[in-house]
Amino acid sequence: MSHISVARPSLTVLLASPRGFCAGVDRAILIVERAIGRYGAPVYVRHEIVHNRHVVERLKALGAIFVEELEECPPDRPVVFSAHGVPKAVPAEARARKMLFLDATCPLVSKVHVEAGRHFEAGREIVLIGHAGHPEVVGTMGQLPEGSVTLIETVEDAAAFTPKDAANLAFITQTTLSVDDTAEIVAALKARFPQIAAPHKEDICYATTNRQEAVKTVAERCDVLLVLGSANSSNSVRLAEVGRRAGTRAYLLDDASGLNLAWLEGVATVGVTAGASAPEMLVQGVLDRLAERFDLAIEEIDAARETVTFKLPKVLA
Ligand code: SF4
Repeated sequence: MSHISVARPSLTVLLASPRGFCAGVDRAILIVERAIGRYGAPVYVRHEIVHNRHVVERLKALGAIFVEELEECPPDRPVVFSAHGVPKAVPAEARARKMLFLDATCPLVSKVHVEAGRHFEAGREIVLIGHAGHPEVVGTMGQLPEGSVTLIETVEDAAAFTPKDAANLAFITQTTLSVDDTAEIVAALKARFPQIAAPHKEDICYATTNRQEAVKTVAERCDVLLVLGSANSSNSVRLAEVGRRAGTRAYLLDDASGLNLAWLEGVATVGVTAGASAPEMLVQGVLDRLAERFDLAIEEIDAARETVTFKLPKVLA
């Protein structure tokens, strides 16, 4: 009997770094886990704690119940607010109902809320650059009375915007936007309103910035980019867009089961990254699936080192 050995095709994998969980996501997930540990199940979570299907399913199995509105929670169980932040009316309602609530809003989102409040108190008209309907945008706009914040999504919106007083304007942004798109919108606003007050340090967070930077570096060398992340995750969707803009074919997938090997036909180098809400185990799952078919040469592409961590709420620390 003779064995015929067929050489497997080789594939270079460029692993973007940093990728995956950021400090805000780490903290938000830990808050739900600790709350279940401390108060027992069920613990209610208002909105997906972070926008990732796998994270949500795992926490459900541990005893979390996900709802969209506070009124769906019984008053005698703890409720966690998601990392994206909530309008001021939400904690106010929880207090009025004497509920125990834990706020998992990322401190970098809270920072934008504080900025919005300062501009408002200084009497400035506020422009928020962001995506309509995203919970972070709903939460940030909900820090202030209705009508005090105007949402701008595009350069065209910036061109069409008519302020009440052009000399007394400020802008803030969502934390998970495309760095490059936002720079264009900001430039359009500044060209029209040179006095517009800008954030001291930009609102797009370090994790979003670093993940996009890493994708740009990887995209220079790869034919296809795989982004692990859910379709409702703003920063994951942006990573795929950044990859496409840099000239690579990019696919967003929830996990290895979403990988279509036909995408890799004739491909020598594939880039892999993960959105800030996607667990590293999903990256490993894709690498395992690729290794079944190819001889892999894995190379990590380091764009930045991250050392940011956030404290837990005192009651859970
Ligand atoms: Fe916070 Fe940025 Fe992570 Fe959002 S992506 S949770 S703003 S660190």
